[in-house]
Amino acid sequence: MPLSNEASLVSDLPALGQDPGRTYRLGIMGGTFDPIHNGHLVAAEQACNDLDLDVVVFVPAGSPAFKQDRRVSSPEDRHAMTLLATADNPRFLVSRMEVDRPGVTYTVDTLELLRAYYPDNVELYFITGADAIIDIITWRDAARIAQLAHLVGATRPGYDLESARASIAASGIDFTVSYLEVPALAISSSDLRARVARGQSLRYLTSDAVLGYIEKRGLYEPPRLSYTAPDALGLIGGLGRDVR
Ligand code: ATP
Ligand code: MG
Repeated sequence: MPLSNEASLVSDLPALGQDPGRTYRLGIMGGTFDPIHNGHLVAAEQACNDLDLDVVVFVPAGSPAFKQDRRVSSPEDRHAMTLLATADNPRFLVSRMEVDRPGVTYTVDTLELLRAYYPDNVELYFITGADAIIDIITWRDAARIAQLAHLVGATRPGYDLESARASIAASGIDFTVSYLEVPALAISSSDLRARVARGQSLRYLTSDAVLGYIEKRGLYEPPRLSYTAPDALGLIGGLGRDVR
């Protein structure tokens, strides 16, 4: 798919691949990050350690393909929270490539762009939660995704890997998948949003900087009930008036 203004989309990507005598490993953590939480961060950190990744680039989705049915915070807010959460880790970086790309985001387009940008001695590792690994076989151009990147599936201890392996094998697509055991898998952005809506704390589920940002911007708070005074509707002393 032709992408608009490709040079500016890659302007915040890390320089990698300079030494032709070695192989570099670039992790990609795609997500809506509404908000980013410790599950994402632990999974990325574990992938860095277990697979010896040089860096992990977090790529907040612009307009996510799978979340067209709910209100998603603005790309700028989700990008800002991702920057705040990753700022203190020198191996974590954030890219605006999907935020700045118009239209719905597809992983295959992002991987194509990264593949075209980096030399061949840079390998791509696309990190997802294990549940998403099973979904990937249904994603747009799944077979191309398998050619472009190794997949990294973050599983919780005790997760039933056999069903993931079986679905991938049944797809007939030649994915290479590494599974990681990550301890923080029960945390989800949906749960964090629900907690804010109920007035509960998010402390220790995401970074303090992200907590402050959510509060400052009023993200995930339930919409305030709007009350319109009766006289503003023309009801006082005027029942029967045309109220619009
Ligand atoms: P939501 O609840 O809104 O779907 P989420 O917590 O799943 O949010 P996403 O932004 O949708 O977060 O996910 C980005 C990526 O991170 C996906 O690949 C997802 O599988 C993975 N992921 C989400 N939560 C965890 C977690 N606790 N541990 C490891 N990976 C996770
Ligand atoms: Mg999700």
